[in-house]
Amino acid sequence: MLQNLLILGGTTEASSLAHLISKTEFNATISYAGRVERIRQQPIQKRIGGFGGVAGLASYITANGITHLVDATHPFAAQMSQNAILACQQTNIPLAALTRPQWQKQKADNWHLVPDIKAAAAALDGDPKRVMLAIGRMHLAQFYNNLQHFYLLRLVDRPEVPPAFPNQVIEVSRGPFNTAQDTLLLSKYKIDLIVAKNAGGKAAYAKIEAARQLEIKVIMIERPVIADRLTFYNPEEVVHWISVSG
Ligand code: NAP
Repeated sequence: MLQNLLILGGTTEASSLAHLISKTEFNATISYAGRVERIRQQPIQKRIGGFGGVAGLASYITANGITHLVDATHPFAAQMSQNAILACQQTNIPLAALTRPQWQKQKADNWHLVPDIKAAAAALDGDPKRVMLAIGRMHLAQFYNNLQHFYLLRLVDRPEVPPAFPNQVIEVSRGPFNTAQDTLLLSKYKIDLIVAKNAGGKAAYAKIEAARQLEIKVIMIERPVIADRLTFYNPEEVVHWISVSG
């Protein structure tokens, strides 16, 4: 049977794999949660929206004759990753993750590590600051206990209902970002604290480099723990794995 791959997407890694796989004889579909308005064009077919938990994903795999699942979701998409592990066990198909190594603290970095978003929000108790809250839009409400700060929010789409921070600016832009631009952005808004997820990869690293240059403290949210999986760090390795794992 010809390999029929499902890629769980929403990342640059997933897009790179989609481009690479489109040049092979393998059949492949890329899946999006549907969180952003403009989904990137892809050279393979795509589907959009949740599957309906583990059972929904397992049904999709069976109904569509999926032979391999590649979890190329963002390192913080822990629910989807956990569902992928369980659905592959249930349907007995192989699973691999395609991801990026996390960022490592450099000597000149001023990072305060926190285990999750709740702890990041708690770390903002105290005097008013000028904060770049670089965590996307899904969990902003967890910071509503700390309305004393100015917040710079960088979001992929302009939200229909703006977040409820009394003192906020919304920058609508989509990565990859570059260090010179992020240095200007942080300076323009006189940012003195950044809250970031340890996403890893190049696309969002510019703000971390800019923070280093400007000596700005970063509240760095550590990655959620995901059970051990076969893991690759570049799309070529995934294509090779699909070729040899029949
Ligand atoms: P999550 O909390 O792990 O997933 C919540 C639910 O969203 C899943 O149970 C699933 O719904 C659905 N879902 C997530 N990814 C999906 C995909 N690729 N295809 C179909 N359904 C998906 O995920 P999240 O953190 O909200 O992230 C959502 C998407 O945004 C992911 O695809 C991720 O790659 C991308 N993204 C996330 C972040 C981040 O910081 N979390 C950053 C950049 C991009 P069902 O249970 O109904 O199947």
